Amino acid sequence: MTSLVDHFKDQLTGQLKLLFGHPVASMTGGLPPAFPKPLGNGNSKKRDPLLEERARGLLHPLAPRLAPLVVVGWNSRMRTTAGVAIAARWEVWLNPALREISEDEVGKTLLHELAHLLAQHRHGRRRLSPHGMEWREACRDLGIPDEKRTHQLPFVGRRMKRRYQLRCPGCGESHARVRRPRRRIACLACCRAHSGGAYDDRFRFQIMSLENS
Ligand SMILES: [Zn+2]
Ligand SMILES: [Zn+2]
Repeated sequence: MTSLVDHFKDQLTGQLKLLFGHPVASMTGGLPPAFPKPLGNGNSKKRDPLLEERARGLLHPLAPRLAPLVVVGWNSRMRTTAGVAIAARWEVWLNPALREISEDEVGKTLLHELAHLLAQHRHGRRRLSPHGMEWREACRDLGIPDEKRTHQLPFVGRRMKRRYQLRCPGCGESHARVRRPRRRIACLACCRAHSGGAYDDRFRFQIMSLENS
């Protein structure tokens, strides 16, 4: 006959089973493995189960053996790149900034990258030109026949055009900026090195316009 404690333990295990969707090995042992294991370097990459499902659904009619292998997620380290496809591991990583632009941009970039995987899958180990005829054919099959060959975030070079150059008279380093700085700013590296981190007018940035007019 089970003791009251065992009975309670069984009940609790049952509840945990419901919560986690799979049996809990032991009440005293560690927790079950966390939902999708992160890949690559630390926390910068995070798989997205919903996007992955969508990608597999899109690929399934075209390449049923490729579809279940595909991994899709977000890479928070990306800056100006919209997305990458790593055909050797059937991975697609997207820039989280796409979500702030629109769902449409997320979908378009996903398809662009999936076309890279599909093209490579169809042509085995052959070395393909990144946006060559094989990729364009894959784009057509995925329903994006007019896809342009770029991996840049759409606002780079348009809204975010860098029009000003800041140059430090101390070290000569220069930085490109979208807007003209509204207050006086100085080179942090030089201020740290020569004035204990305080603002020092000797290292005040010289501002140059990059416009050609
Ligand atoms: Zn591409
Ligand atoms: Zn400097």
